[in-house]
Amino acid sequence: MPLVVTQAIVLHAFDYLETSRVLRLITREAGVQSVIAKGARRTRGRVGSGVDLFAEGEAQIYIKPTRDLHTLGAFDVTSSRSGLALEMSRFTAASALAELTLRIAGDETNVALFDGLSGTLDAIAVASGDAVVERALAGAWQIVADAGFSPELDSCAACHTPLAVGAVVAFSHPAGGALCESCARRAVAARRLPAGARDILRGWLAGSVEVHLSALDARAHQRLLREFIREHVTSDDRPLRAFAAWETDFG
Ligand SMILES: [Zn+2]
Repeated sequence: MPLVVTQAIVLHAFDYLETSRVLRLITREAGVQSVIAKGARRTRGRVGSGVDLFAEGEAQIYIKPTRDLHTLGAFDVTSSRSGLALEMSRFTAASALAELTLRIAGDETNVALFDGLSGTLDAIAVASGDAVVERALAGAWQIVADAGFSPELDSCAACHTPLAVGAVVAFSHPAGGALCESCARRAVAARRLPAGARDILRGWLAGSVEVHLSALDARAHQRLLREFIREHVTSDDRPLRAFAAWETDFG
């Protein structure tokens, strides 16, 4: 069995049988992987009981090429991100990001996506108040961009006509972005995207994180993000439970 040693973040974890845990990890070198940590619920196993949700560390994974569940040999935690458990808003935001990552990332290497998620979780773990949802929105759109799903914002997603800077445009999830006036007239269920919101979205997709939103605008951005993910990222009808909890919790 080939051994892969890589930085990894725990995105999902559940107990398995008497002593083991099954983890869904995003790794820096090998994308998303499911692993079984045998003996993880014993305190003296090589995978300690500190391997909790959102923890990051160096994972030793024994890859079984023909299987979906690999064996975690060791996990040395470098950051437990315990701050995420201290406030409900942090925890629900981190859970939504984990859910998005598990839906969008495959088993291919995506260093930018991994590093972006890691930085976002670090930031949320120490953020307070409105900064939590703002930082999570920025991090979520960075994940979307790093996975190659960026919506079109500067030209019409349907006919590619350039869109005027500062114009209020329609945003169509099925079309994959903003629409010019004539395409918007033919589109069903397009949303109105004010110029300010389009600027913020463009900034997030380019990696900017400094933004201050009203509570109303933050909610509108959460809804836009959820609808976009629903349309472009999820391949089935499984509900986005963590997203629902994140939107309910906020405010
Ligand atoms: Zn058009």
